[in-house]
Amino acid sequence: MFSNKEMFTETFLQRLEMTCGKSFQESTKRDHYHTLGIMIREYVSSNWIKTNESYRAEKEKQVYYLSIEFLLGKLLRHNLLNLGIDDVVEEGLKELGIELSDLEEMEADAALGNGGLGRLAACFMDSLATLDLPGHGCGIRYKHGLFEQKIVDGYQVELPEQWLRHGHVWEVRKADLAVDVPFWGRVEAINNNGKLEFRHLEAETVMAVPYDLPVVGYQTDTVNTLRLWSAETTPYPINRDIMKYKRDTELISEFLYPDDTHDEGKILRLKQQYFLVSASIRSIVRSYRKQHASLIDFHKYVGLHINDTHPVLAIPELMRVLIDEEGMSWEDAWHITTNTISYTNHTTLAEALEKWPVRIFQPLLPRIFMIVNEINERFCQDLWTQYPGDWRKIEDMAIIAHDQVKMAHLAIVGSYSVNGVAAIHTEILKQREMNQFYQVFPEKFNNKTNGITHRRWLIKSNPKLTSLINEGIGTKWVNHPEHLKELQFFQQDSAFLEQLYEIKQDNKKSLAEKIKAKTGIVVDPLSIFDVQVKRLHAYKRQLLNVLHIMYLYNRLKEDSSFQMYPRTFLFGAKASPGYYYAKKIIKLINTIAEKINNDKTVSDKLKVVFLENYRVSLAEEIFPASDVSEQISTASKEASGTGNMKFMMNGALTLGTLDGANIEIKEHVGDDNIFIFGLTAEEVMNYYQYGGYTSVDYYHHDKRIRQVVDQLTNGYFGDLDNEFEPIHDSLLMENDQYFVLRDFSSYIEAQREVGKAYADQNRWLKMSLANIANSGFFSSDRTIQQYADDIWNISSVKGKVR
Ligand SMILES: *Cc1c(COP(=O)(O)O)cnc(C)c1O
Repeated sequence: MFSNKEMFTETFLQRLEMTCGKSFQESTKRDHYHTLGIMIREYVSSNWIKTNESYRAEKEKQVYYLSIEFLLGKLLRHNLLNLGIDDVVEEGLKELGIELSDLEEMEADAALGNGGLGRLAACFMDSLATLDLPGHGCGIRYKHGLFEQKIVDGYQVELPEQWLRHGHVWEVRKADLAVDVPFWGRVEAINNNGKLEFRHLEAETVMAVPYDLPVVGYQTDTVNTLRLWSAETTPYPINRDIMKYKRDTELISEFLYPDDTHDEGKILRLKQQYFLVSASIRSIVRSYRKQHASLIDFHKYVGLHINDTHPVLAIPELMRVLIDEEGMSWEDAWHITTNTISYTNHTTLAEALEKWPVRIFQPLLPRIFMIVNEINERFCQDLWTQYPGDWRKIEDMAIIAHDQVKMAHLAIVGSYSVNGVAAIHTEILKQREMNQFYQVFPEKFNNKTNGITHRRWLIKSNPKLTSLINEGIGTKWVNHPEHLKELQFFQQDSAFLEQLYEIKQDNKKSLAEKIKAKTGIVVDPLSIFDVQVKRLHAYKRQLLNVLHIMYLYNRLKEDSSFQMYPRTFLFGAKASPGYYYAKKIIKLINTIAEKINNDKTVSDKLKVVFLENYRVSLAEEIFPASDVSEQISTASKEASGTGNMKFMMNGALTLGTLDGANIEIKEHVGDDNIFIFGLTAEEVMNYYQYGGYTSVDYYHHDKRIRQVVDQLTNGYFGDLDNEFEPIHDSLLMENDQYFVLRDFSSYIEAQREVGKAYADQNRWLKMSLANIANSGFFSSDRTIQQYADDIWNISSVKGKVR
């Protein structure tokens, strides 16, 4: 039905009548979107079935990527591109007077994630399928994804997100594959001929219903599965209070927790975590049993990867299945489990390491708690043998201590691989944060620097740049992104650089129009588009960016001879609804924007725009139009970052600290093609360890700092009621925990260099080209191949699948 335009339009019209029950004349854009989606899903389904059949027939090892978040965004254009039918569809629709881009507008972002961690999972799905690897995703089908952000009077207001309002055309509900997940109740031990057996009684059972999404690889027949679980009531609950049972059950898959760092400390969150892993493992084991007589070789055919600690209960859950259901010994079960589970750590922020109070954990998951307890006791015994008498060490490393279950400790002890997400992050894990574990299990630790799918973040989102690259070096890079390096041949080609310039200008004009339409603010596409888009967090230091803008404004107002290249500062960021400080920063950005944008005396030099509701689909419009990529986290705090890679791939230059993957970006692009400033991670960590930083000194000794810090509370920007006192206090009273003032001067200097470089257009274009040319390493295809080779031990099934 997609082999040519005519065939497509004919089928489309037929299908439209069949699925919507309307004539073409009566039909709406939504009907068109829906019809097209259904056609694509049908088109994919035979390869989907074949892929699964061949995995079964070949007994291929299957990897399941367990993640509490999948930040997918829109799928229509992405799927068309991967299937190679985007042109046929676009032209066919045109014949009918329909614009494909209008239909894309109809699709809601699937925002089942907060930020980087969830987006990584989505990029990995794309790379797994594209590389023909037998890898699938398991997640939760939240009824409401990440909240929708509105800005009202400069404040963030959260609205519930409604992505399922019009249904989700890509999913297939598989009610017959539902599994039961038990909570609460009690455990009974029975002596069965001298063997202790455990039964979980009087549990409240929740039915987990899978919704499967096909994951289509790029130009391949492989179609993997992303299985999202939805919580529903079982037909026969033992519970007497039906209404309460229904509420409690449906709540499990109702909301995504809108926080990517803090542990909310809610029972519901723990319920979600167990729900995800238990449903996933039960369904994986069920299909495994159809193929294999016993589970004794389970680890040879199944890999379970846990994306951060949220799914770490996969460890005790698999132990439970092996011991309670299969009747295995503890030792056999432990051998299988610790050869099945691999774990990615995403943070060293202490406040983000998950811990659960025993008083919550034990009653909710009584049998799982027993198993965690046993894992802990055996681990502590091993430690005792290795470090006799070292109570302190055992207390530090225990999985359960001081009535808390430490999820990261469980993850390390119960898995065979622990990876960080950028070189520096892994080193910090090994040498500092998890050094004690590294000494006990050095062989488990390894690095896998994050990546992004260049199919979504370049080919799909920046078609003009894609065409230019294809004209320059052909299309090999599409399957082998390291070939982007060949773009370096065009460093001296002024015609090529000129085209690069024009493309960036076109993209900036499109974004400028969008900004005008959305906010009324007129921005000049000839100014530098200086962009910081990411979750709002103190460690990401949007504040440093804001203080610098305030400084520039002061200079412009006070010194008529002050020269600067015109700038447009763009922000996009959601703050967790309960994160008071982050919300103050949003208000601050909007407050200074209001004043600056309405001051005619600076309007040819400075504009500040806050784009509301930052999300994947908006991100896709921003990266291609960016000149400067702000990656200014306090060194040591950003595990990797992936936004930095998307900017680079679209030719923006990084202005950043030596943190996360910025360091590897610098190594790949060369010192001359990046702007680095600020403290190193080593210096930051030494300050934390030994002290020696006094923010007030910087306030007193640098009048640029004094001026902007004072302006936070003196009403200069038109704020009332001590609005920004908490920010002011964080800098001076709380000694500026993120070293904003410490790095301020260095940041101003680096920003001056940025302006100077941009003013030399030829130099800038060469730098920009160098960034694109060296971005291939940051494709998630490279990352996933490394996971496949070094951690999962799986290989391409290309040729085996037909
Ligand atoms: C890539 C991405 C992120 C992660 O950005 P960082 O700068 O790495 O924190 C967050 N949200 C969205 C929508 C993204 O596309």
